[in-house]
Amino acid sequence: MWSKDVTFLNGELHLSGISSSQLAEDFGTPTFFLDEAAFKSRALAWKNELNVEFGDSAGTIYYAAKSFICTAVAQWIKEIGIGIDVCTGGELAVALAGGIDPGKIELHGNNKSVSEIDRAVSVGVKTIVMDSLYEIERVAAAAKKYGKRQAVMLRLTPGIEAHTHEKISTAHEDVKFGFSISSGAAWEAINRVLDFPELEIRGVHCHIGSQIFGSEAHEIATDRLMGFMAQYRDKFGTELPELDIGGGFGIAYVSSDVTVEPRDVLPAIRKAVAKACEKYSLSTPSVSLEPGRNIVGPTMLTLYEVGTVKNVNIGNGVIRQYVSVDGGMSDNIRPALYDAEYSAVIAQRVSTAPLVNSRLVGKHCETGDIVINEIALPSDIAPGDLIATPATGAYGRSMASNYNHVPRPPVVAVKDGKARVIVRRENEEDLLALDVKE
Ligand code: PLP
Repeated sequence: MWSKDVTFLNGELHLSGISSSQLAEDFGTPTFFLDEAAFKSRALAWKNELNVEFGDSAGTIYYAAKSFICTAVAQWIKEIGIGIDVCTGGELAVALAGGIDPGKIELHGNNKSVSEIDRAVSVGVKTIVMDSLYEIERVAAAAKKYGKRQAVMLRLTPGIEAHTHEKISTAHEDVKFGFSISSGAAWEAINRVLDFPELEIRGVHCHIGSQIFGSEAHEIATDRLMGFMAQYRDKFGTELPELDIGGGFGIAYVSSDVTVEPRDVLPAIRKAVAKACEKYSLSTPSVSLEPGRNIVGPTMLTLYEVGTVKNVNIGNGVIRQYVSVDGGMSDNIRPALYDAEYSAVIAQRVSTAPLVNSRLVGKHCETGDIVINEIALPSDIAPGDLIATPATGAYGRSMASNYNHVPRPPVVAVKDGKARVIVRRENEEDLLALDVKE
């Protein structure tokens, strides 16, 4: 759960040798602390393992920007030499601000606006992943406008129920994403793409969901997509050269989970590709993946400060200790959105007090503003204690809001004993900046 550079010295959490009390003093709370070395090594591990397993058929590791992106992280992505998947004009702008070569950018999204498509085509993104018939026409129009031939992939729904939360399972039939293979929608989309000489169909894509453990779901998706690629070959006499099976690889949020490592799943995915090549008499496509959570998730922790503690009788004399921190659903909406589980510790001291049934809650005016629904915390926890929650890197800061006009926390990168702000804390001026006075 904790990133590589976290240690506990005399009971106090340290990141890259810096104590949590020092980090809180220097940067305030709540703050996201990002272990830079861990981020880079996780991103590199995906790239290296893809190359080891697929050799010449290795496509691209596209880091899923939606999990967390800022200009500094985009610069790291560029440095590491992987690609990036963006799904809005805003994410595209950050990728470009970080100097990422447009030839390493893939654009996603089920409702890309005309101006987002226009920008993507004009800067020369590598691939646009098609998600609707309207979009096929819009991308073709933009390509025509710029005198380009735009490479595109087709997002398919292979009809897989990935074993994860309903709201992060994306490849069963009843979803807004992609074209269904079973209903024939995918063939209608292929025919539409082939109508436009400005579009070059490169292959097929799917993303089956998030926080998935094991490789089985990705293996099944590989077989379904490659079955489709074989039908394409049979219809049109040529093979599609690219396969992208998305992201979704799980991480440990609590001690009973184990973070998926690239070497745990890539050999099985390679075997699934080889098996499908044999089964459908296809040559090996170039294989790409889009991990987001699995790269950034384990590399960040959030440091909060406790503001209040309340013992509440929840019936029959049962007491629940409510511990309120200075953030909550505005910096971590996942528990409210997906019943996501997290863990937490007191960061700056050891407590020998008995552990009691507790709920870690935020400061927002919502009963559902819960960081951890049930956790055993020491009974002597008190205002001023620091609380660290590990594995908050993915979909934490990126889904953060200003609910209750709470300024969003900063992100501080920590490396080799030094810490620096890479996204600054919002302030009151930021909160008022968009308001127009009457
Ligand atoms: N690719 C696509 C198309 C997605 O929609 C997502 C997440 O929603 C991802 C990749 C990244 O997923 P994860 O962060 O679970 O790896």
